[in-house]
Amino acid sequence: MRDIRVIGDPVLRTPATPVTDFDRDLRRLINEMFAAMYSVDGVGLAGPQIGVSRRLFVYDISGRKGHLINPEVTVDDPEPIVDEEGCLSVPDRAKGSPLYAPTPRAAGVTATGFDKLGRPLRIKARGTLARCFQHENDHLNGELYVDRLPRETARAVLLQAP
Ligand SMILES: [Zn+2]
Repeated sequence: MRDIRVIGDPVLRTPATPVTDFDRDLRRLINEMFAAMYSVDGVGLAGPQIGVSRRLFVYDISGRKGHLINPEVTVDDPEPIVDEEGCLSVPDRAKGSPLYAPTPRAAGVTATGFDKLGRPLRIKARGTLARCFQHENDHLNGELYVDRLPRETARAVLLQAP
């Protein structure tokens, strides 16, 4: 089982590079990412979170499950929606569980990319799925949800993080 990297690990602040080989190793990696995500009851996990600096993520949220490779996330509806958001990589250092904070995200997005066999995907999302796509895509750019918070809120979260 792959360990989940936590804030302070440089891999989480490093922009990931595109996946180039759609091979057996990639399919194995995706299976490992799902296993790591489910082991901690997560709803999304990006490559850098298990130390793999590649542009891909997996998700299973509100009954919608999948993976996206070399994703592009474009905003269709920029209306900001503020809702509780947390991250497996930003845990409470005492409890180990994710720290949550009200986080603004665009209401609607379209995610494009490829599946593990290299077939193009296009997914329109609103609500929690749109939030998840934006959150996971940020990971691929070396960004974390705390970067989206007002400064005081971010500080309060980071005080409890490792
Ligand atoms: Zn995260």
